[in-house]
Amino acid sequence: MTTVIDGCAVACVDAAGTEYADGHLVVDGDRLVTVGAGRYDGPVDERIDGSGCLATPGLVNTHHHLYQWATRGLAQQSTLFEWLVELYPVWSGIDADLVRVTTAAGLGWLALSGCTTSTDHHYVYPRGGGDLFAAQVDAAREVGLRFHPCRGSMDLGRSDGGLPPDNLVESLDRALAATAEAIDKHHDPAFEAMVRVAVAPCSPFSVSADLMREGAVLARDRGVRLHTHLAETVEEDAYCRERFGCSPVEYAERLGWLGPDVWLAHGVHLDETSIARLAATGTGVAHCPSSNGRLGAGVAPVRDLLDARVPVGLGVDGPASQESGQLGGELRQALLAARLRGGPAALTAREVLAVSTMGGARCLGRDTELGSLEPGKLADVALWRLDGLGHAGIADPVAALVFGPPAPVAALLVSGRPVVRDGRLGTVDESALARDLARVSRELVRR
Ligand SMILES: [Zn+2]
Repeated sequence: MTTVIDGCAVACVDAAGTEYADGHLVVDGDRLVTVGAGRYDGPVDERIDGSGCLATPGLVNTHHHLYQWATRGLAQQSTLFEWLVELYPVWSGIDADLVRVTTAAGLGWLALSGCTTSTDHHYVYPRGGGDLFAAQVDAAREVGLRFHPCRGSMDLGRSDGGLPPDNLVESLDRALAATAEAIDKHHDPAFEAMVRVAVAPCSPFSVSADLMREGAVLARDRGVRLHTHLAETVEEDAYCRERFGCSPVEYAERLGWLGPDVWLAHGVHLDETSIARLAATGTGVAHCPSSNGRLGAGVAPVRDLLDARVPVGLGVDGPASQESGQLGGELRQALLAARLRGGPAALTAREVLAVSTMGGARCLGRDTELGSLEPGKLADVALWRLDGLGHAGIADPVAALVFGPPAPVAALLVSGRPVVRDGRLGTVDESALARDLARVSRELVRR
């Protein structure tokens, strides 16, 4: 099956920064076979008219908590620690039905904002809640997005000096066994994999040093990646210095948590030494500018990270601290955040596009498979409509996409399969998802 998109501007985000003002893409099966200038005249099974649009690689979301779709708009003026303390008891009521619905709703919404690959970091496993991990994988398959679920865990309850209530944490053995099982059942190392699993204890203030250490051993034994929250707030920095006598990055390094197979969510409070360690070890950072703004956590040093050649991707983060839940909107947010910190030259529109595509692919270890529009790569493509009121008249399409309002997605291909067609989800019923989301949110609060 051959699909062609033509009549559109194309930003390839390859190493040479190739762009076409009027170009085409040819997809055969799940791969891109041609990317070039002008119209495509060869035989095709299906043609998508790209007039008025910009084609880019599909965006890669490197950090999320999809279950939080059911708890948006709460703890509105809280710091991270206050917000967590208010939300943990609500989250103790989640089950497999809620996780299936919120995963489908969140991924559907991400697809409509240009995202073709998303991670999820799920760390709340109430006893008796059912197989939450399988519910996520099933929902992602239904929506059709490429999915990197990170099996999270917490074993440091309040009575052990952690932040979560005791009834929400797992034992170290249970957490490790469940993580191993998730890898064995769902991880696919293949080039075209739709599901890859990562090992993801939650954070230094909710996880014991032993679980962090043994989680890293498990991940390396099975050849999967490692993900956690790190250096998000000043309170976390103070917690690490008081409890462990070092910075969050030094703590992570002691536990075996720096390396080319690790990416860390946030990285807001990083000194020069910490940035140098991330760079020397090839450790990636998931930058979540809207969530950092919502919780008043600070502005991550993205310019410094990029200059040091640290892999940086974009992340939406959980919708309880980022109610918009869109990835497309994070492009503009990332640009503005970097410039508020470092001035108007701190980050360009093209650098933001590269961070949200190739940067994310590097964080997930998939830069040979995803992240740019090049022959041989998987056909993960976002086609952005730029001829409406919000963008018309901006001559540079990449500037329109990043400086302008979140652009409507005309089409979205994942492995060549259309997940969005004519601006609508083609795989799942959007109105049904919205109804289900309202239902599980109501039921959770009642519980
Ligand atoms: Zn997070």
